[in-house]
Amino acid sequence: MGIDFVAAIDGQASRVPEKKAFCNSRGESITYTELKRASDALACWITANPRIPARVPLVVYGHKAPVMLVCFLACAKSGHAYAPVDVVFPRDRIASIVDQLGETAVLDTLGTIPELLGDDLAVPCFAPAEIAAACEDGADATPVPVSGDDTFYIIFTSGSTGTPKGVEVSSQSLNNFSTWLSNSEYAVAEDRIWFNRSPFTFDVSITDMGAGLTRGDTMFALEDEAEKSLALAFEAFQTSGVTDWVSTPSFVDQCLADEKFCADLLPDLKRMLLAGEVLRPETVRLAQRRFPGLRVFNGYGPTESTNLVTLCEILPSMLEQDRSLPIGYAKEGTRLLVLNPETLEEVPDGEHGELFAIGNTVAKGYWRRDDLTQAMFHACPESLTRGEASYRTGDEVTRDADGLYYYHGRYDLQIKLHGYRIELGDIEATLCALPEVHMACVLPAWRDGSISHLVALIVPSDLQAPRGFALTKELKRAMREVVPTYMVPRTFKYVDSFPLNPSGKADRKALAALIAE
Ligand code: AMP
Repeated sequence: MGIDFVAAIDGQASRVPEKKAFCNSRGESITYTELKRASDALACWITANPRIPARVPLVVYGHKAPVMLVCFLACAKSGHAYAPVDVVFPRDRIASIVDQLGETAVLDTLGTIPELLGDDLAVPCFAPAEIAAACEDGADATPVPVSGDDTFYIIFTSGSTGTPKGVEVSSQSLNNFSTWLSNSEYAVAEDRIWFNRSPFTFDVSITDMGAGLTRGDTMFALEDEAEKSLALAFEAFQTSGVTDWVSTPSFVDQCLADEKFCADLLPDLKRMLLAGEVLRPETVRLAQRRFPGLRVFNGYGPTESTNLVTLCEILPSMLEQDRSLPIGYAKEGTRLLVLNPETLEEVPDGEHGELFAIGNTVAKGYWRRDDLTQAMFHACPESLTRGEASYRTGDEVTRDADGLYYYHGRYDLQIKLHGYRIELGDIEATLCALPEVHMACVLPAWRDGSISHLVALIVPSDLQAPRGFALTKELKRAMREVVPTYMVPRTFKYVDSFPLNPSGKADRKALAALIAE
């Protein structure tokens, strides 16, 4: 049966009223009854608030606190899409998102936005105390929820030109996603506590909301210090009771580097769903050694297709093969086509091609970016889409005869670094906007099959100026004001000019050889 995301979560308030829907390492928690009551009240308050225009998207700013969930649901219940903005975003990125949304308002759960944005804050912004009071008192109003093709959330991801782009996911897509995951091989009929690792700005976090909250499970997350220190995270895990782990492989690798990350720490852990980047066999092997009996699943999918479009359990036979691990089988409701990226014709099983996702969880497009929406959501020939929504992923894959998909890399300059989705062009555009930089090329440095860090190659504006530590320090400082810290390259190298390829662009291959020297 189809799941309605909001109704299913609300329904838990009568089924398991006192059960925790969400808790974090700081000891904050919220029960299903409290979640329903607060989000209902806040939805009325939003509807009645004359400073919030009807049905415009609202920014929800904060991190892993219960109030974030309340705000998300309240937005949906009052007919507003929400755009989550995490604390890792620097001021310029937040300003860009608020600016792109245009008519909007900010639900500032931390109370730091006015100070961060200063005079750039030109839209109504509501402080934590106001939000808390609204969650208690509500207002006299009859909210009209989002439904069908209305946008449920807008997640902003790195854009290749230096400006983040907002992916608009509809209410129906989220419902379809939740329905599929709750009924998939991954679903089991038992009470679960899910480790919700990824920030709400990263759609991996939707996984356990879609499959967990809608079933009345509990979500557990790390807040603040515990997120920055593994020692504190481990302390929090000890009492968390987590049964289901959802994160990027990078985060598991980080944890596995410490021998304490084992069944003694998380005795109830039964399943790990890893997604968002390449899953290496070594990660699975080590995780299963540390947690005997652990089932590991690999999930794949872009934000533009509402999180996962493939999923499979990693079986012992897959670990024995001399090849990369599969990313899974296509989810129900989605057709996955492997096309020649130039001719857009289907390629036979086993041959490399670009993955196109077609079906009922493909996003609506990019917020107010018709050019990009056209290029990515309308590229698939109509003879193949058969009237359904499609998304061109940019991912190079193969499909086996039995329908298992394998990932082989990207056709463009998008990368994953420690689980974060980054367009290298985004960093390059940011660097080139700095007065000290004439040209910039950013390249990934690889170690053991994953990207370990980024290297920036720079042609300085002033070729005579000193190029040492002081310049690098200044460039990094300036970058941190504009992009999240994870997008600031670790290493900077300076050259007088770039080798160019025949089309006159920086020759990335030649530059990669340069940094490998
Ligand atoms: P995001 O929108 O942040 O979820 O990033 C989506 C991109 O991450 C995909 O287009 C892939 O390039 C990559 N990705 C996601 N899941 C996997 C996976 N399981 N294996 C390899 N790459 C992945």
